Amino acid sequence: MIKLILKLLIMLPMITSAQNVEFLNSLNQQYENYRENSITKRRFKHSDIKQLITSLEDKNNFSVKKAGFSAEKREIYLVSWGKGAAKVFLWSQMHGDEPTATMALFDIFNFLNADDSFNDFREMIHNKLTLCFMPMVNPDGAEVFQRRNIFEIDVNRDAVRKQTPEGKLLMDTFEDINADFGFNLHDQSTRYSVGNTSNPATLSFLAPTMDYEKSISPGRQDAIKLISGIYKNISHFMPGHIAKYSDDFEPRAFGDNFQKMGTRTILVESGGYKDDTEKQFIRKMNFLSLLYAFKSISEKSYKNEDPGIYDKIPFNEKFIMDLVLRNLNYKNEGYEYVIDIGINKEEESYNNADEFYYKASIEDVGDLSVFYGYEEYDMSRMEVSVGKTYPQSFNSFSEIEKLDFSRLFKEGYTNVVLNQKISSDFTKLPVNIFYKTAEEKHLEIKTGEKANLIIKENNEVKYVIVNGFVLDPDKPEFEHGNALVFK
Ligand SMILES: [Zn+2]
Repeated sequence: MIKLILKLLIMLPMITSAQNVEFLNSLNQQYENYRENSITKRRFKHSDIKQLITSLEDKNNFSVKKAGFSAEKREIYLVSWGKGAAKVFLWSQMHGDEPTATMALFDIFNFLNADDSFNDFREMIHNKLTLCFMPMVNPDGAEVFQRRNIFEIDVNRDAVRKQTPEGKLLMDTFEDINADFGFNLHDQSTRYSVGNTSNPATLSFLAPTMDYEKSISPGRQDAIKLISGIYKNISHFMPGHIAKYSDDFEPRAFGDNFQKMGTRTILVESGGYKDDTEKQFIRKMNFLSLLYAFKSISEKSYKNEDPGIYDKIPFNEKFIMDLVLRNLNYKNEGYEYVIDIGINKEEESYNNADEFYYKASIEDVGDLSVFYGYEEYDMSRMEVSVGKTYPQSFNSFSEIEKLDFSRLFKEGYTNVVLNQKISSDFTKLPVNIFYKTAEEKHLEIKTGEKANLIIKENNEVKYVIVNGFVLDPDKPEFEHGNALVFK
């Protein structure tokens, strides 16, 4: 009998882990049932979510409270669900341009409100947990898709001084709830890699430190164990795509202070994933991670996780660029040598920050063999030169529209000059447009320079790079990209 019990005890973690896999697999399969379909892109605003939040008031088990207001008087809500003893507080988007987890919170609300094969699970977490959500802590930042609040203060450096209404509200709410667990939901650069690998850090986790010595309190140890469990179970959906965020102590940040105050705090950072510009896959990974965490907290199974797993999660490193062109021959001022070229594309907002265009620049030149690109080309035996500016200027935009871009490309041109000013800062035409008085400096292949290149093979133009986008000279148009207008 004792032998049998011992055997069962040994098997228990195996049974639990098989259950977790099954649970997450079926959640993943049924995710579309819960996805909040009114939000499918990152650039949504307070007005897009306000009604979604207030409509929860009519739904079973939800309580919705106007917790306070942003500087520009937008409502910041606190949504609660559950009647359990363990309090879990989740807050998202204290940085206005970090919306991925906010999308996932709405998926979670839909999940909590559903009536289906997960009812037993729902009942369990309803009885064990009290979930408190504060989605979009910084709605004014979200309005213009910027990190900071309208005072230009980084809310996550305001946990102590509390000069932003958003930061003060978050701290007051936190003190009010006195949560057992806290989830601090952010987005990080899409160019973080998992250690020195070629994999983007799609999600990074951290149990924030409480002091410069990086002490481990019992609460922090619990957070570490919970992350070990999340890592083990969520890696299955994206092997090698989970990293650990820098564990340097930041005395002004919320996570570090909440951890210090005894709440088992977990930072979740949504990074990048190939071909997921709008972060919809990453949103789903947030959804799965958080529901897994609710399960683990309800069952207290995190207590059995190995903290050594957390220790071994690779840290975020910065080995990823948007585009890497490798092994190009370059003839420059009498020298001839081989270079790789790394290019990054930044998003620039327009149309009230509802939309964005790309502005590319050369990130690095030389031996980039330790770096990886979301997009990579081996250009061995090809020759690179700077895209030239067409010598004849044009009087109207429509004249430029009529150009034979294929011919322009094959003659080595990526830029044209316009004698008329246009208001836009970018164009969908595959050439950059310089207003006649625009400073026309000599373009070079060097760090920080615009990314417009001509790539030749056997003296014929094989590729053209316009504003960091690789184009075929026989098919001179953008799929998703744009060129720039310089005034
Ligand atoms: Zn952030």
